[in-house]
Amino acid sequence: MSSSDMSAAEGDVNLSAERRAFQKRHIDAQTQQWLDEDERWFLRQSLSTPCLNVATAAEGSHIVDLQGRRILDFHGNSVHQVGYGHPSVVAAIKSQLDTLPFCPRRYTNTSAIDLARRLAEVAPGKLEKVLLAPSGSAAIGMALKLARYATGRHKTLSMWDAFHGANLDAVSVGGEALFRRGAGPLLPGTEHVPPPGLAARFFGQDGRAHERLADYIDYVLEVQGDVAAVIAEPMRWTTVELPPPGFWPRVRASCDRHGALLIFDEVPSCLGRTGTMFVCEQADTTPDILVLGKGLGGGIMPMAAIVARADLDVVPEGALGHYTHEKSPVGCAAALATLDVIAEEGLLAAARVLGAHALERLRSMAERYPVISEVRGAGLYLGVEIGRRDTLDANARAERLLYRCLEAGLSFKLGGGNVVTLCPPLTISRAELDEALDILEAAMAAL
Ligand code: PLP
Repeated sequence: MSSSDMSAAEGDVNLSAERRAFQKRHIDAQTQQWLDEDERWFLRQSLSTPCLNVATAAEGSHIVDLQGRRILDFHGNSVHQVGYGHPSVVAAIKSQLDTLPFCPRRYTNTSAIDLARRLAEVAPGKLEKVLLAPSGSAAIGMALKLARYATGRHKTLSMWDAFHGANLDAVSVGGEALFRRGAGPLLPGTEHVPPPGLAARFFGQDGRAHERLADYIDYVLEVQGDVAAVIAEPMRWTTVELPPPGFWPRVRASCDRHGALLIFDEVPSCLGRTGTMFVCEQADTTPDILVLGKGLGGGIMPMAAIVARADLDVVPEGALGHYTHEKSPVGCAAALATLDVIAEEGLLAAARVLGAHALERLRSMAERYPVISEVRGAGLYLGVEIGRRDTLDANARAERLLYRCLEAGLSFKLGGGNVVTLCPPLTISRAELDEALDILEAAMAAL
């Protein structure tokens, strides 16, 4: 894989020499046999099969591997806001399983109705009509279709480098080369602009780059004149980048001016991760359609949703998301329990308090280890940028850091090739958080 492919990758690369060396040192014969068997039966793909290791348990902040090692999981595919196997979520799932394990079409169920109401209650602004789906990508697809029906237009404006899921429609509005290259013709009318994270590269280093990017977006919406929606991650997840205040309100105003809807993809950032229920609250911007997923299923069930303005309920005779598991009672029970846990255990505040503590420790590390070029984050989602982006050296160092940490019992994801992303459960104890940061610091020292 070339360095540019690596830097574009959603996560760490699964065919690297560093990974093979790690496996040689730490994977025993029995685990290797299972990994071989995995590769024998699964189609291989980037960021997945062949896999690194075999998990046998996931509890709280830890995963346990086949060799009995307990690993602090700061990766978790961003699903574990309430940790793994939270007793309330497990109990809700078990109870639902015993009564209504599935809800066939034509029927609704009280768990689904309760969940839709609760999502409308927690969503910002006047977002109040819900559709459920079994994956974030599927929910993105529903949002795109709704925007087409509601506006009578088909074009979208999105950001290069963005990730919105792996389905073809999501890849079309996404901007990562890894997912687009070689995939053949994508959706027509999917226009892209540079991502906010790279605004300074294209729009000047004088601190006004984001204003110019917002102006550029306004210009594109104006000259096209027929864009159905701007779709974006309000916080670029893979590289932990939140645009400065003022950016999203300007984009919001442009959308309003030019008749485009604003769709925010909060699949990973929803439900408290950043210290507020949704990260768009911190950007003072309410979209027309909010997409959520991942942690909605309590780290157990595949669950995603869109929450839209009530007046976008305009497709009673069409099909936005005709999914078999649309109103899954078990998924909805998991989501309801998750919302309860977030409220009852004060997880928004926990994310803010623990996040501030972690950020302070990371900033102190940045002063002592010049390999760190920037530390940033919101709530309990933090990024440590290693070296300079898009350099082979930075990516190689970040990868070495990853495998050292894995050796010492800490897992995290590398975003954009060189950004250490730290995504612990919001239920994590301060002691566990400090243990993880100690591991990271020791690895940094060894680099
Ligand atoms: N949008 C964002 C920002 C994501 O990070 C992801 C998944 O990583 C998705 C959409 C797609 O979600 P799913 O994998 O559930 O289809």
